[in-house]
Amino acid sequence: MQLRIPGPTPCPPEALQAQGKQMINHRGKEFGKLLNSITERMKKVFQTRKDVLLLTCSGTGGLEAAVVNTLSPEDRVLSTSVGVFGDRFAEIASQYGATVSYLGGEWGKPVDLEALKKALKADNGIKAVLTTHNETSTGITNDIKEISALAREFDKLLLVDSVSGLSCIDLPVDDWQCDVVITASQKGWMVPPGLAMVSMNEKAWQAYARAKMPRYYMDLGKAKDYLEKGQNPWTPTISLCYALDATMDLMLKEGLANIFARHARVAQIARDGVKSLGLSLFAQEDHASNTVTAVKVSGKVDALKLVNLLREEHGVVLAGGQKNLSGKIFRIGHLGMVHEEDIKEVLEALKEALPEAES
Ligand SMILES: *Cc1c(COP(=O)(O)O)cnc(C)c1O
Repeated sequence: MQLRIPGPTPCPPEALQAQGKQMINHRGKEFGKLLNSITERMKKVFQTRKDVLLLTCSGTGGLEAAVVNTLSPEDRVLSTSVGVFGDRFAEIASQYGATVSYLGGEWGKPVDLEALKKALKADNGIKAVLTTHNETSTGITNDIKEISALAREFDKLLLVDSVSGLSCIDLPVDDWQCDVVITASQKGWMVPPGLAMVSMNEKAWQAYARAKMPRYYMDLGKAKDYLEKGQNPWTPTISLCYALDATMDLMLKEGLANIFARHARVAQIARDGVKSLGLSLFAQEDHASNTVTAVKVSGKVDALKLVNLLREEHGVVLAGGQKNLSGKIFRIGHLGMVHEEDIKEVLEALKEALPEAES
């Protein structure tokens, strides 16, 4: 099977083997060494010297941690959502009592920087900006450098969902001064689902000190304190730590620049390939993502039928559209362990299945 959805992604054999190892004491020296070494290498991938904390949860748990550790009920936040995951981030903030206003972008387009500037200028009561680096539902990569510069210009805290971006697409967290950045194991990190990683800079910790939303399991202050002892506050998923240890070796051996370049090459092949089959991209092309390609189907082709056919007859697993994009688009995940040949195989299968999916 070619699993080409935007997470979970295929895991390299090194990760699968590593996660089968025997348990160790999570309060012992051996785990401490493992956690410290994982943390130091995660910082390299985040391109940060600040804190990176490892949480036991999927990406959404990481988003929730970012919200509850930096905000208070009644805080006003601005959501730049341009898709399903942007909406989810805003929904979490709203569930915990924040008042969310929306910039109102269009799905398939990136965040409108002019509109963002205007909104921030017009309203100085906003505490934080919630944004999505790579909107997996539409296949868009946003201009985080510019969004972050605007957040700083107006002195807002910036929370960045980079669950499907970081480790595949360049995101220099310190250089771009992103206050909180969230990612997760089952995307570009090539590890099974179950770990989220969250970076926090000084501005984020200052917000933490004032934040009043309820938190317990997701308390990042506890995570930081325990990390100093080489521990997690709670029992961690040791098996996934083994797997992450293995994939980070592979990643740092390949080198960040090479990883980013490989994702760019593979994505270009995906985009060129679907266009040559007469399909069109859902995302505005100058902001098309290097980790997921969202493809519009033409009138005659049923997207759900196509995804089913590819899975049942061709051994290729793609993702459909989410929410109101269901049936209208399909998505090719190309992140983590993916090479040119994988995408060429997907395109071959697509070429064969397309005529069969005409209803
Ligand atoms: C996958 C993903 C998430 C998190 O989803 P989980 O299923 O909770 O891991 C959040 N944001 C984006 C952009 C994603 O792609």
